[in-house]
Amino acid sequence: MVQEITKLIKRQEVRHPEKVNKTTSPIKRKPDWIRVKAPNSKTYHETRDLMREWKLTTVCEEAACPNIGECWSKKHATMMILGGICTRACAFCNVTTGRPNAVDLLEPENVAEAVFRLGLEHVVITSVDRDDLADGGASHFAATIKAVKRLSPRTTVEILTPDFLRKEDALETVVEAEPDVFNHNLETVPRLYPTVRPGSRYFHSLKLLDKVKQLDPAMFTKSGLMVGLGETLEEVNQVMDDMRSARIDFLTIGQYLQPSVKHHPLDRFVEPREFKELEKRAYGKGFLLVSASPLTRSSYHAGDDFKALRDARNRTLNKIEKHQLAAHDVTSSVA
Ligand code: SF4
Repeated sequence: MVQEITKLIKRQEVRHPEKVNKTTSPIKRKPDWIRVKAPNSKTYHETRDLMREWKLTTVCEEAACPNIGECWSKKHATMMILGGICTRACAFCNVTTGRPNAVDLLEPENVAEAVFRLGLEHVVITSVDRDDLADGGASHFAATIKAVKRLSPRTTVEILTPDFLRKEDALETVVEAEPDVFNHNLETVPRLYPTVRPGSRYFHSLKLLDKVKQLDPAMFTKSGLMVGLGETLEEVNQVMDDMRSARIDFLTIGQYLQPSVKHHPLDRFVEPREFKELEKRAYGKGFLLVSASPLTRSSYHAGDDFKALRDARNRTLNKIEKHQLAAHDVTSSVA
């Protein structure tokens, strides 16, 4: 057991040099409701081979996502552009931190080609944080969105972006490329930012999402939270209210899973019934769509969720229209 922990720590030292001096927090045994099957289907292997062939990085692998078996078996992968090395060192994240490589200028076309070959109806594109680039990688995001839309005009594009902190005009560049869904995760409650997301600012992230709506009110916005990091229910409630003030349409809530003994300690496993309660509460606050379950991740079931999101908006618009017509009829009859 001691040997295994030592081996694990050594592996993490290579991947996360910035976390070497952090205290060691043992990994808690997962409850039954978190267990997933080992990936093994034919489509899973085909998806993996394609990612290798086009030299694409996925957050599914980099973040050691527990849903990889299910998602890749349905050809659903989240592409990670701008390399696999992040300039931030969030305490929950399994992506490598360090000095990133040069931007691969062929990447937008390669992503577009892979999306086309996989025949995806909906694709999620994310990236590492690139504080080293003048625009934080915004123009690369825009080029990738445009390349996908050029080659697969019927494919809807969802992006999960960094916060573009101190990168003037970066957000405008990305929004102008017209992604169908703009996602940026708040990840946790403001009190935990200094330990969980030390390089980020809660209100900046919130404002970023609000600004997307200012720039394009029709663009869907989405954000996600992890639970099990030590937050309280009241704090989660407050974040939901903040998100609605920023007019966020779609909320995802999933269980935090501690990637290694050097990552932020897991406080607790939130039970499935608590996720149901959170979902109910969130709908009560007016989100168009909510996905809350232990295995929810921002890109989990993203294609189906996009259709549900569009349907939910259409239903709301129809209701408003009917209401306005009824009000108009009353006014006309009074006149
Ligand atoms: S949930 Fe998202 S990150 Fe995880 S495997 Fe599925 S697509 Fe990849």
